Amino acid sequence: MNSETFTVAVPNVLDRLNTEIVACRLCSRLVRYREAVARTKKREFQDWEYWGRPLPGFGDPRGRLLIVGLAPAAHGGNRTGRMFTGDSSGQWLMRALYHAGFASQPTSAGRDDGLILRGAYITAVVRCAPPDNRPTPKEIRTCAAYLQREFAILPRMDVVVALGHVAFQGVLALVREQGFEVPRPAPAFAHGARYGLAAPGTRRVTLIASYHPSRQNTQTGRLTERMLDQIFRRARRALAEHE
Ligand code: SF4
Repeated sequence: MNSETFTVAVPNVLDRLNTEIVACRLCSRLVRYREAVARTKKREFQDWEYWGRPLPGFGDPRGRLLIVGLAPAAHGGNRTGRMFTGDSSGQWLMRALYHAGFASQPTSAGRDDGLILRGAYITAVVRCAPPDNRPTPKEIRTCAAYLQREFAILPRMDVVVALGHVAFQGVLALVREQGFEVPRPAPAFAHGARYGLAAPGTRRVTLIASYHPSRQNTQTGRLTERMLDQIFRRARRALAEHE
């Protein structure tokens, strides 16, 4: 796709997909939960008008780094309407992206906070906040269709960082569906693990696994700031190798 075609075609197709995603009600359990959380709210966010809907992807569609998370947090993305925004996971991720030069600022507080991603696009395997941050396998399968379409629309994504085991498995399912050759035995999730995946034709993708920057991981020291910074330095190196 040449630059002119990309500039015209991709934003339009992506906008149509995002409009569809935001209106989605396919998973009844998640629809009930996201809307109930948006009605009841957390005490400290009583003045907020919660988003309470599915989240579209966010970032630079011309970028070459795709970051795949699990799902929005009930009082994070489900409140603010933007992936990794308004919660601790978002703060951790944006600080690391800023250090690696992918984000214009180290914080992610709300949709109007001026944050710009450069060369990176953030998405998730599930678009609605799940109870206890645990989507069911069926919900993951249902929502996977959106990730498939997003990945197909964004043909420049050379490097994918999967945040957490569920996202990692979701990306593997995605690339298999898109015809990529996945090595056998199948790639295993481990923080910092890196895999090269090739599709028939010319498309190649480097998949990098990372622990998710959830409180469960960051408060226990399983994931440190240094470890997350290393992931995005590794992503930078992989992007350079793709050039
Ligand atoms: Fe739709 Fe995905 Fe939300 Fe399910 S999780 S309702 S498929 S947007």
